[in-house]
Amino acid sequence: MALFTKEEALNYHSVWRTGKLEVVPIKPCRNQKDLSLAYSPGVAQACLAIAADPELGWKYTNRGNLVAVVSNGTAVLGLGNIGALAGKPVMEGKGVLFKTFADIDVYDINLNTKDPEKIIETVKLLEPTFGAINLEDIKAPECFEIEQRLIEIMDIPVFHDDQHGTAIISGAGIINALEIAGKKIEDLKIVVSGAGAAAIACSKFYVALGVDQANIAMFDSKGHIHAGRTDLHPTKAQFAQKKAFANMAEAFKDADVFLGLSTKGLVSKDMVKSMAKNPIIFAMANPDPEIPYNDAKEARPDAIMGTGRSDFPNQVNNVSGFPFIFRGALDAGSKKINEEMKMAAAKSLAALAKEPVPVEVMDMYGEKDVKFGIDYVIPKALDFRMLEWEAPAVAKAAMDTGVATKTLDLEQYKKDLRT
Ligand code: NAP
Ligand code: MG
Repeated sequence: MALFTKEEALNYHSVWRTGKLEVVPIKPCRNQKDLSLAYSPGVAQACLAIAADPELGWKYTNRGNLVAVVSNGTAVLGLGNIGALAGKPVMEGKGVLFKTFADIDVYDINLNTKDPEKIIETVKLLEPTFGAINLEDIKAPECFEIEQRLIEIMDIPVFHDDQHGTAIISGAGIINALEIAGKKIEDLKIVVSGAGAAAIACSKFYVALGVDQANIAMFDSKGHIHAGRTDLHPTKAQFAQKKAFANMAEAFKDADVFLGLSTKGLVSKDMVKSMAKNPIIFAMANPDPEIPYNDAKEARPDAIMGTGRSDFPNQVNNVSGFPFIFRGALDAGSKKINEEMKMAAAKSLAALAKEPVPVEVMDMYGEKDVKFGIDYVIPKALDFRMLEWEAPAVAKAAMDTGVATKTLDLEQYKKDLRT
């Protein structure tokens, strides 16, 4: 049953003020003195201090809690290339989630261009305004180069959530699913449907977790990615296998893991039946997975099944990652979100899933008796404990790898986040 009607969704976006976010001053401005502190001439003191020492920009502006959600609207949700303006509700929505779950402020920046050079130049120019950059819904393969180049030239974190958020959260699920299924990561045979932003980033992340890259059979809309193909962008070519599969069904035989980041309906019950014992099936195409949850479970009751949907177990939802990853990075004054920080985020989520689940969290979903096991390998997307688990783990990794500019007392930090 749908949770809302079309009219409700449009009303949500239009009444009483249009859109989903507003800007709220946090310093008083009620009398003549306030006015001269907020603006001229008092503001000049802050300007001069920063001009003399740019590091003070973190102390005297809102930069340290402000993230740019930057999109050009070329790969919005499952809606595709709908353009920058049509994508704006999504970017505002991202701002709502950042603020609600991690108290981070967002300006959404919707850029009317498909030219990677223009995006790179514009985002670089925005650096003085922001503490970090969340790239969002920019299509592959351009998204890979845009992110990589910006990471190199900017002194603040740049993170493309469609890639890494998905990798981190599904990665947490994989870590736990392996334990339950009794499988070793280095032995896994994996079939990946899709070779776009999310599929490439997830596959790379799993390799960092210990998967043997040679055991990943990846498929795009033209079929298996193998050494004989001459049409491959370098991001796909790195996953080319020596042996060519005629089709995905062939690759499914005895596979341990299926990762779906493509489109609905590509996987049949027979394909799932041919997988190895205790298969791990993360079919994450939105809104409809590569195989419906019930079909996969009917074919293989022993499967650990996850989707992008909230109405079935093991939801992979990026909201379990980005608010807390940016929280930890900003609080540590981090210059990057590096691989170690991503890994720390995944491991903290995996560890949290093993803790007893508070009744309040189960109530949010109308469920009872949620506990670590085949139907619960990832914390629920509304589990409020993720803030105090994930953000300190990310901040610690930033400090340990030398990209943090602050030293946090992690125990105190965890307590502060709780309150
Ligand atoms: P993307 O960059 O557009 O990639 C889509 C990929 O799917 C492309 O590589 C495309 O092939 C491939 N594809 C399309 N039809 C196919 C077919 N018939 N067989 C095999 N591959 C096919 O999109 P994305 O951002 O990676 O997202 C992909 C999907 O995952 C979307 O449905 C998205 O909603 C979902 N997703 C879910 C989550 C989540 O649940 N948390 C997170 C991220 C993404 P070509 O390269 O040949 O075009
Ligand atoms: Mg997105």
